[in-house]
Amino acid sequence: MAGGWQAALRALLVAAVMVMGASVPARAIAILRDPDIEHALKQLALPLINASGLPAGQIKILVVRDSKLNAFVVDTKHILIHSGLILKAKNAAELQAVIAHELAHIANGHITRRLTNQRAAGGVAKFGLLLALAVGASTGNAEAAAGLAVGSASSASRVFLGHTRAEESSADQAALRYMALAHIDPTAMADVLDYFRGQEVLSAARQDPYVRSHPLTRDRIRAVRGYAAAYAGAARDNSAADYWFARARGKLGAFLQAPGYTLRKVGKNDNSDIAIMRRAIAYHRVPHNDKAVAEINRLVSMRPNDPFVHELRGQILLESRNYAAAANAYGRAVNLAPRDPLILAGYGRSLLALKTRDSYAKALRVLERARSRDARDPRMMRDLAVAYARTGNNGMASVATAERYALLGDLKNAAIHAKRAVGLLPQGSPGWNRAQDVLNAAKAAG
Ligand SMILES: [Zn+2]
Repeated sequence: MAGGWQAALRALLVAAVMVMGASVPARAIAILRDPDIEHALKQLALPLINASGLPAGQIKILVVRDSKLNAFVVDTKHILIHSGLILKAKNAAELQAVIAHELAHIANGHITRRLTNQRAAGGVAKFGLLLALAVGASTGNAEAAAGLAVGSASSASRVFLGHTRAEESSADQAALRYMALAHIDPTAMADVLDYFRGQEVLSAARQDPYVRSHPLTRDRIRAVRGYAAAYAGAARDNSAADYWFARARGKLGAFLQAPGYTLRKVGKNDNSDIAIMRRAIAYHRVPHNDKAVAEINRLVSMRPNDPFVHELRGQILLESRNYAAAANAYGRAVNLAPRDPLILAGYGRSLLALKTRDSYAKALRVLERARSRDARDPRMMRDLAVAYARTGNNGMASVATAERYALLGDLKNAAIHAKRAVGLLPQGSPGWNRAQDVLNAAKAAG
């Protein structure tokens, strides 16, 4: 059976082909993997996904670390939103309008059509493009964002997917319908488009990438205003949506903006859980460990059954080298959310840091559970390889390393480790088969 990473890689490779365009230098897209932020975005998306008729379990919203405004789809499963657009949105409805529009591109078949065309055009190898997941990490580590690097070293690529005007019009109409069904204020869609007003006459370099991925015209804005007015009566206040929006945006900002800015902005007297979370992250990044731990402990006492609060506590403790306490915190998070792959990955990482025979064995079990649920995380794959090596299974360590290189788009090194794994593992065993998958992918791309 092909590993989950392979399916992910295939989807991303196709995406790379789809996004290649004019001669803009290849660059990395950093994907921020944070379980709390991804969960909050999913909460905002759920009523829209339900309205679209797409299966809720199919859609994953990922955050791209990029201050420019953009949102796009690369396949029928992932919606990517730039951090800049999340931080720019003024309310939940604006962010939900962005999500609704991307969902509509998926539901209306705009993506499927492109994927089919790409296969007909000869696929990945023909274009010599590699799409890579760069060394991954959670939002906690400034330089360690999990990422996709688009474009091989020599070939230029452009990181966006352009839709036609007809697709834009149909996506807008469907998105406004989803918003009305979900009782979300449809005028928020027009407010989002207003961010880009007038940009259609600018040169590409001065446009927000959103304007290139989603062509904007005066007609389009006028049509959206018209539909929005017709649907305006459907809107209802939604305090849960307001909360998840504030939480996703608040956590993202605390990790991406300067800690001093966050601390000034939040102030000392705001005792809401989101304000406390933001202060904990800002103090952690200064670093001001005592204050960070004091704030996160306070947050845990306020929300003892919130897995993401324990996860953040685990991250703060792990990154300040308080390994035993970190493993405990992650353990509690896992108890509350036993199936969240990013929480499992953090738990595994903290167990590895304990460096005992028992903790290595436990880390291996936990990381294998994480991998089986989400193999798109190269940092987790690196930890998994370490766990195999420490428990004496060099063959499986090589499989995990080969798969990590494949995710990173480095198929040459992937093949080297896959060959090593094939030599070490019993022929026909699951690990041996996965190594063969990597060798086949390397051959196909070469
Ligand atoms: Zn669009």
